[in-house]
Amino acid sequence: RWVRGIGTMQHYDGKDFFTGVLHDITERKQDEMRKNDFIGMVSHELKTPLTSLNAIIQVASAKLKTSDDAFLAGAMTKANAQVKRMSTMINGFLNVSRLEDGKIMIEKSHFNIQELVQEITEELKLSVTNHHINLFKCAPIVVYADRDKINSVISNLISNAVKYSPNNTTVKVSCAVTENEITVSVCDEGIGIKPSDTEKIFDRYFRVESSNTCHISGFGIGLYLSAEIVERHGGRIWVESEPDKGSTFYFSLPL
Ligand code: ADP
Repeated sequence: RWVRGIGTMQHYDGKDFFTGVLHDITERKQDEMRKNDFIGMVSHELKTPLTSLNAIIQVASAKLKTSDDAFLAGAMTKANAQVKRMSTMINGFLNVSRLEDGKIMIEKSHFNIQELVQEITEELKLSVTNHHINLFKCAPIVVYADRDKINSVISNLISNAVKYSPNNTTVKVSCAVTENEITVSVCDEGIGIKPSDTEKIFDRYFRVESSNTCHISGFGIGLYLSAEIVERHGGRIWVESEPDKGSTFYFSLPL
């Protein structure tokens, strides 16, 4: 059974005693586990047709390169973008499900954080056309971390910065090194987050509800996953934000 409680542990006569209130949360926990299994199963099943669809689009796009049908070429680019978007969502759900099952492993290697940040910003600049993504100073520091997962944290922070900012604004990415940690920051000129929400945004499935965000799609899992990844590296993630002015997300990794 699962229990949750508030109280104190005391050591008396060679034994440990708990004084306080305990709640039996077994049913809630089993409910959460069933929901998590369901999300994992659905996401896994959706991956197969999506992979086929992606393959078909790639083959059709390659064939279209040799044709001069502008309408079809445009339609194919749009289909490709939508398949990529769906794939990111499904992978997000799969990762949440794996995380809850304790199946997300951190596989560390040595890599240069400057090269990684450069790669991510260059790639995002190809698809983000309505915002300026600028890489400010970033020293060529070698870190010992899971490259793919840190890649997804940085990509997620930049994608959010773009998603929650008006067109033609700038997203600045930079890295700062201190004696024992490296801090990556992503700064935007967007809608910002009110102080009462700055802690909650890292919770699973939490999304700020406001007239500014209701038209922006998402499931509230990106920051939850990012926070878990950073914490599993022994790092920290946080945000400084002012409504209507913008936000700066930071995460640090120990060196
Ligand atoms: P999603 O963007 O899919 O909803 P996230 O977990 O990435 O999920 O973000 C959780 C919430 O935090 C978002 O719904 C949004 O309300 C808020 N948020 C995240 N990044 C920003 C940002 N750069 N500026 C303003 N709000 C943000």
